[in-house]
Amino acid sequence: MKNLHDPQPHFILVPLVAQGHLIPMLDLARLLAERGARASFITTPVNAYRVRAVVDRVKESHLPIRFVELPFPCAEAGLPDGCENFDLLPSEDYIDAMVAAPKLLRGPLELYLRAQKPGPSCMIADSCNPWTAEVAGKLGIPRVVFHGPSCFYLLSTHNIILHKVNERITDEFEPFLVPDLPHQVEINLAQAFGWALRSESEKFKNEITEAESTADGIVINSFDDLEPWYIESYRKAKGKNVWTIGPLCLYNKDFGDKAMRGNEASVDGHAVTKWLDSMEPGSVLYVGFGSIGRARPLQLIEIACGLEASNRPFIWVIKEVEMTPEVEKWMSKGFEERTSSRGLIIRGWAPQMVILSHSAVGGFLTHCGWNSALEAIAAGVPLITWPQFADQFLNEKLLVDVLGIGVPVGVKVPITHLSEDDGVMVRRDDIVNAVSRLMDGEEGEPSKMRVTKLQQKATMAMNEGGGSTYANMANLIQYFREHGN
Ligand code: UDP
Repeated sequence: MKNLHDPQPHFILVPLVAQGHLIPMLDLARLLAERGARASFITTPVNAYRVRAVVDRVKESHLPIRFVELPFPCAEAGLPDGCENFDLLPSEDYIDAMVAAPKLLRGPLELYLRAQKPGPSCMIADSCNPWTAEVAGKLGIPRVVFHGPSCFYLLSTHNIILHKVNERITDEFEPFLVPDLPHQVEINLAQAFGWALRSESEKFKNEITEAESTADGIVINSFDDLEPWYIESYRKAKGKNVWTIGPLCLYNKDFGDKAMRGNEASVDGHAVTKWLDSMEPGSVLYVGFGSIGRARPLQLIEIACGLEASNRPFIWVIKEVEMTPEVEKWMSKGFEERTSSRGLIIRGWAPQMVILSHSAVGGFLTHCGWNSALEAIAAGVPLITWPQFADQFLNEKLLVDVLGIGVPVGVKVPITHLSEDDGVMVRRDDIVNAVSRLMDGEEGEPSKMRVTKLQQKATMAMNEGGGSTYANMANLIQYFREHGN
């Protein structure tokens, strides 16, 4: 029953248990709470523990957010104990189990929601949690889909499917132009869809499409001035409310918020800042590949050689799982010593936003995850693009060909299509060339100018005085004040 007198609509947020999804949705929960709504953030014990510093901050500031921990069904899903996030998978063999596991939260979530009196006004569920459609439907809760990627990616894949390109083309590596776009975007099916073309993923993709078609609206972590034509066209294509409410990372304004985002960092943020303070403005290359993709030992060694030959200061994030004894041994045989005056290697979780927002950082070698791309734009840092899978190849097209804020390292094949026998995909010379093009060459300055303009527009989007994201957030909250339960 609609509570007409409740000025605070109550949003239930159901993120996917992957860092690239949890992080922006936690920002969204805080933004909603700060803007006059209440939020309940559905999480699991391990994921809640990782952001305990954020949870404490929320409590201290009395923001109306409740963290709801549902036990994650590791045993039932065939996952090792404590494996509650995609970045904790011991190996690729567990990917399908991890994709299927969140669905098992259906019963516990329904039980929890039934006990809430009055019921929530609206559910905001990650697009990769299509099972939430049934729960919300049963309980009569309006539901909005949260999309992590860019509108450019969403519209491109929408158009490819609409024009049945994927049915017409049998060779996954045959290049084609994405239909109905104002820019010439050449791509192949392997790059555009990545893992989603595997037959067992086909069913999941259909579930996502179905859940989106019955949703009451869509929220997207982007902002109107970044990709205006794509946002407008996507809105028309979907024929429903699309609220662009990004870049959500800009909600993290102070050092503490930036340093504790997503997980406890494996280095002290102040120590990293001190190291960056000792470097020239714009001189440091930051190298980080998000939370999921894992490089093989030989590729890591090749990156090390590329960084050494580039002769620039760098910060390089290597995941703990990537640090095999083979890599560790190679690193300790001279590389770290030779680069110690200009290189900082972070083993584990890096305080990425602290790094990107430091003026010493002049370039970001990135896998083109949408959060990383937005964080770079929000910090005014141009990019070297090295896409790996999922939305990342299309994001690269947006960043390089449409926005002109980066140079490609030259990778063509998604990691999902590599076999054990495939060697190193990106050679040291490719890295040296790309670094030199972006940070020394003629392409550097125009890329920096364009990304700085976008940074200003991103900041303006968040502004109370007429910013598009600010207005869209107000509109989203008001909409469910009026139309929610
Ligand atoms: N991230 C971080 N430290 C790390 C690795 C990742 O803070 O060491 C954050 C990064 O800032 C971003 C998110 O994790 O917010 C990764 O999301 P993205 O979409 O870039 O890539 P994904 O991990 O989904 O591939």
